[in-house]
Formats: sequence, structure tokens, C-alpha cells
Amino acid sequence: MTNDDTRGDATANLEIEPASMKSSGRCACCGKSRRTAWGFVYRDGGPRACYFVEWTLGRIDCAARFDVVVGSWFDGTTEDDREAVSLEYRLLDTGPSFAVVDAAGRPAAEVGRATKGSEVAGTPLAEEVVTIAGAVLEIDDRVSELSARAPA
Ligand SMILES: [Zn+2]
Repeated sequence: MTNDDTRGDATANLEIEPASMKSSGRCACCGKSRRTAWGFVYRDGGPRACYFVEWTLGRIDCAARFDVVVGSWFDGTTEDDREAVSLEYRLLDTGPSFAVVDAAGRPAAEVGRATKGSEVAGTPLAEEVVTIAGAVLEIDDRVSELSARAPA
């Protein structure tokens, strides 16, 4: 991979801290169980984001969602100080792929302002969120079945 160096720089100061998970109903397309796992992201030692991953157990061909809420988490801040961004994840032949979609209605929209895919796509915010989602995919063992390196 030619981008190993840049990717290393982008994630070097990110820390992923897995928290809880819960089951979240059945997949609309295949009826298998879905699960949501969440956790926290620290950047340069301070709280930066929280993330939610919802996917269908054992089915990497079903679309998974990565919801990331980025912003201020200090005392006195509210959901208006944070942006909730939703990513649709698919594992393509070319590797992991994230598409920014609307965050309205997602659980993440309860802790941050729900953004629309069209307003976020192509911005530095989208770049940061995709970097975070990629780090989660790499570091959080609970979602390792979604990553390219997991056995089929
Ligand atoms: Zn499905």
C-alpha cells in the first residue's frame, strides 16, 4: 500500500475506546440479527467523538452503518456543539468503502446535530469521520468481522 505513511499520520493521535453493545433487531433484507456496538474516540488525549456501528451478524454483504458524533464533549456543551455523521459501509472487492448518508433518525442524532450526506460529503468533516471509522474498523475487535482481514 502506498498510503501507509499518510494513514499512519492521520490515525497516530487517535485513540479508540470500545464501550457497550446491544442487539438491534433484525436485518431488513435477510432477517438475521443485527447488533449495535459503540465507543469513544480521543484525539490528542482529549475527547473528540463517539461512534456507533450497526451491522448484521455474520453477513458482511449486508450494509453496515457507522455513525460518528464529532465535536465538543466538555461540561456545558450540548448536542448543538457536535455533528452526527452517518456512514454506510460496504466491503467491496477493492476494500472497505464508506459513503456519507443522512444521519436523521439514527441513535447518534440524539447526541449531535444530524447532518445530511449532501452537506458533509467532500468536506474536512467527512474526511475526519471516515478516518475515525477506519480506525474503529481496525482497532475495535467487536467489528473485526466487517474488515477485509477477517476470514470469510
Ligand atoms: Zn441482511
